[in-house]
Order: sequence, then structure tokens, then C-alpha cells
Amino acid sequence: MSSSQPAWFQAGAGHVWRPYCQMKTARPPLPVARTYGSRIVLEDGRELVDGLASWWIACHGYNHPHIADAVRHQLDLAPHVMFGGLAHEPAYRLAARLAALLPGDLDHVFFAESGSVSVEIAMKMALQFWINRGVAGRTRFLAFSGGYHGDTLATMTVCDPEEGMHSLFAGVLPDQVIAGLPVDPRSEAALDAVLATHAGQIAAILVEPLVQGAGGMLFHESEVLRQLRALADRHDILLIFDEIFTGFGRTGTLFAMEAAGIEPDIVTLSKALTGGTLPLSAAIASRRVFEAFWSDDPGAALMHGPTYMANPLACAAANASLDLFERGDWSADVARVSTGLADGLEPCRQMAGVVDVRVLGAIGVVEFAQAVDVGALCAAFADQGVWIRPMGKVVYATPAFMIGDDDLARLTGAFRAVLAQGGRDG
Ligand SMILES: *Cc1c(COP(=O)(O)O)cnc(C)c1O
Repeated sequence: MSSSQPAWFQAGAGHVWRPYCQMKTARPPLPVARTYGSRIVLEDGRELVDGLASWWIACHGYNHPHIADAVRHQLDLAPHVMFGGLAHEPAYRLAARLAALLPGDLDHVFFAESGSVSVEIAMKMALQFWINRGVAGRTRFLAFSGGYHGDTLATMTVCDPEEGMHSLFAGVLPDQVIAGLPVDPRSEAALDAVLATHAGQIAAILVEPLVQGAGGMLFHESEVLRQLRALADRHDILLIFDEIFTGFGRTGTLFAMEAAGIEPDIVTLSKALTGGTLPLSAAIASRRVFEAFWSDDPGAALMHGPTYMANPLACAAANASLDLFERGDWSADVARVSTGLADGLEPCRQMAGVVDVRVLGAIGVVEFAQAVDVGALCAAFADQGVWIRPMGKVVYATPAFMIGDDDLARLTGAFRAVLAQGGRDG
């Protein structure tokens, strides 16, 4: 097998440390030659329909010519300049456009390079918001079971402590308050009581609106978000929405918060922000949060500035991606993909080991009672000409919005063919 691998793969395989992977026992990764549309072309010539849009980012498909042109143009002008003391058009245009697209007065955009870092910045903003206002003791966060906010040290503390990938670090990291989402009157009362007990210690509530992604593609009603806004207001706590996964159309509205008709005090964006071409993220604050930093006192400033923040290439890609959103086909495409996933995955409900099939926007999920065998399923899907990589108990699809009907049918057909043989006892 390895002799058929390309030379670059053989040369590097002993040196690359792979993500989320017990490398001793895992199957080797699939060498990729190139991508286009909703397809990944492997080095061995096979072509896979990508069911994941590369960890949920390539919403317009790969190699979109409008985004590629914008990046090429910016590459000739200025690939990067430091953002301290210098300004450039791609970032300033993007900040103004994001502020205009986001509801309410979420108008103050702080750029970074990755999702986890933007969550860390949102947490730092929330902590300093209270310090700047002279309120002591607001040192903790309230987050939710099933939540995922990143892999860096501070974001690990606000992930689900048991289900998440970070349970090894219990006791090492600061202890946050982890609660159940307020999904019914009982859990609402329970959360209200938790907040009443801890309000003086909590800087912010942190939640992924509508869909908890990496924690298991768990959906909740928009009413939950209205409850959280009301509870945050009642206890005078900031509310942070992590829309890194849900932002940019994935759930059917441009931002998940629109489904609830309320706004958080800070929102984080990344993943599909550049249409999946370059790393970029943002923590975007409301006027109230920003004003707590606006002062004659230099000590009240936000002392943060990642070296590559607001990278011009990434901002150019994001502006081009927003152009594509403005053209407006995405909404009908998400509805079409949603129907295709719902119809195509429904038969999986009857299969052995399956406990739920659910679809929201361009997210389709088949949940098993037990964790599945990720490696075996990846290989079985690849044999069907499809790229799918399950997480825990869920086998899910988050394709590009523009995926053709034929590829979508091939994708859901592969779910039916592969999952009929069960989750292969992960
Ligand atoms: C992916 C993700 C993150 C982390 O983003 P990275 O770019 O991987 O650091 C944080 N929050 C949510 C909701 C995510 O889906």
C-alpha cells in the first residue's frame, strides 16, 4: 500500500503530527492532489464527493474563481502588513460589511487568525469589560454541556468537560460553571438558580447558538437563545455567541442568532468567513462592550494583537465570500441541500444502532447509540466515492451549499449503503 503513495507523503509521514489522532493505530490519511467544487481529487486519481466542506468551511465549494481572483489580486498588492499602526482596505471594508450584516449594534470587529483564538479574545473582552467598569470578582464563565469552543487552554475550560475531547485535563485548568441548556421550564429554573448563586463571579455566558457542533451536532430551539438573553439581562452577565460553525448560512439564516431575533454582547466568527480558503476569525463586540474600553486611560485598552491579525489575503477572501453571499443564491441552495439531506438520510432511521436522524439547514446527522469506528467508516465512505469523517456517535454531512443534486444524491446514497452495516462498533 505505502509503495503506491506519492514520494512527498512517504518523506513526510514520519514527521507530521496529525490532528485528533492516535497515530500508532490509525489508518494513514488520504493524500490529496487538488480540489474543485464539491470534489476532492486524491493522488491515486480517485475523486471523492466532499460531504464535510473541510470541517464546515468551504461553503461556496472549493477553488471558487471569484475568491481566487480576489486573493491573487491582493497577493500582488500586499500579502501582509502588521496591523499595529497600519491600516489596509481589505480589513476596513470587511469590518464595515460585517457590522452591517450582523443584527443590532454588534459593530466593533477585532480580527484574529483562528476560531479558538477569537473565542479567547471574546473571553478576555468579557473579563476586562467588568474590570474596566470597576466590578471585581467576575473571573469565571458559564458554558454548556455538549458545547465546544476550541482546543486552546482557555477554550478547553468552556467545552463540555465529559463528552469533550479535553477530559484528560480536568483539574489542570480553571474550573468554569458548566450547566444544561434551558430547554424546558425545569432546566430554565435550574439555570436561573445556578446564575443566582454564581452571578457575582461570572463574566459571561458562552454558547453556540442553535447547533452545538463538535460536541455532537446537537440542535436546540431558538427559544433557548431568547431565554439565555433574558437570563443574562436579569443577572447582569454578558452573553457571547460562538457562531464559528453556525455563521454564514449553515443553519439556514446568515447568522443563527437571526432565528431567535436577539443579539449577544459579543459574537465570534471564523470557519466559513473566508469561504474556506484562508484562516481568519473575528470577535465582534456590541457598542456597550466596546464603550467599556473607550477611555482616556491607556490601561483600559484591550492589550491584544496577533501578529497575523487581519491578514490582507484572508480579508480579501472574506470580502469575496461576502460578495457571493450578497448575490443571494446561498439561501435557496441551503434549502435545497436541506431537503436532499432530509429525504436522503431518513431511511437511516430504521438501521441497527441508529437512535436519531436530524437535519437543520445544510447539516444532516445520523446519530448512533454508541461511538462509531471513525477509521472504518471513513474507509467505507471513501470506497463509495465520498469523504465523510464521523465524530463520536454522529455520522454527519455539512456539504458545500452549491453541491450539485447528483453529488448530493451520491452522498446520501453512501450514508444508506455504509450505515446499513452499522457503526462498526467504535
Ligand atoms: C471549530 C470551532 C472552534 C475552533 O475554531 P478553530 O479555528 O479550530 O480554532 C470554536 N468554536 C466552534 C463553535 C467551532 O465550531
